[in-house]
Amino acid sequence: MSWFARKKEVVTEDHQIIQERIIKINGDPGTKSYRKGKFLGKGGFARVYEFWCQESKQLTAGKILPKSALLKARARQKLMNEIKIHRSLHHTNIVGFDHYFEDGENIYILLELCTNQTLCEVMRRRKRITELEVQYYMLQLIKALQYLHAHKIIHRDIKLGNLFITDQMELKLGDFGLAAKIEFDGERKRTICGTPNYIAPEVIDGKQGHSYEVDIWSLGALMFTLLVGKAPFEAADLRATYKNIQKLVYTFPDHIPISKEAKTLISNILKIDPTTRPNLEQILASPFFTKNPIPKQLPASTLAVPPSNS
Ligand code: ADP
Repeated sequence: MSWFARKKEVVTEDHQIIQERIIKINGDPGTKSYRKGKFLGKGGFARVYEFWCQESKQLTAGKILPKSALLKARARQKLMNEIKIHRSLHHTNIVGFDHYFEDGENIYILLELCTNQTLCEVMRRRKRITELEVQYYMLQLIKALQYLHAHKIIHRDIKLGNLFITDQMELKLGDFGLAAKIEFDGERKRTICGTPNYIAPEVIDGKQGHSYEVDIWSLGALMFTLLVGKAPFEAADLRATYKNIQKLVYTFPDHIPISKEAKTLISNILKIDPTTRPNLEQILASPFFTKNPIPKQLPASTLAVPPSNS
């Protein structure tokens, strides 16, 4: 790309073409045009579409956030935190952050396109997935977390809907809306703006603060969900769920065959005391991950039906 955007501004000509005004590297003004394509999904405030850049001929995911939804300082702060953290990350298992720009109405965030949706849709179709698939997806998620934690970032919202899948069936961790940077060694975070899906007991408790171990806890809750088809501490309401988490009340259903290696790993991870949870390296060295070779690739058919060898 031969131009460098120093000052960005955008004009929405109509509902189909979005223009980003940029300054070329030689100082001349220019524009980049994006054709808004297929609707990909919607989140809290955002609607996400395919964006086709007419100059670079590149397809990305364009997240459109109406500024009207960002009037509260807290919402703006959360978005700025998300952008600041996400744009600094470069890893094959993390959704790539291209750039962002704005016009009078909206903020546009351009992200690497993940055409096969998220593990949430996979689970909706499949109900639960095989151990081989769990190994395949979790290995990639753990690599993303190793990178994040090495860069002193806690994701704090590991959940099915934040695990994106590309056309190559590669897993990419996304949505850094609740992520936090650890500013000094030993720092304990006190608050989270929002409710993480697989919330750790120390976050509910709130007294001793929390750190990287909350992502480990979520990894255990996610693994249970993938194998069983429902979350470990699920209950009639949030209060009852929190109580189950704090008292560590969960059971493996008898009717689903789950290996002892998987059960052992989940129960080793789901520990109330965060200091007794294994770290990411210990998880990868556990028999669940070493008992058989992990597939390098899964066929796209597994998005809807179990792999044929299972
Ligand atoms: P929010 O942060 O407001 O919750 P999300 O980031 O979850 O919004 O995006 C909402 C939906 O848009 C997702 O569930 C997914 O279907 C789609 N989406 C988001 N990012 C991408 C992406 N990079 N590639 C493909 N689809 C995406």
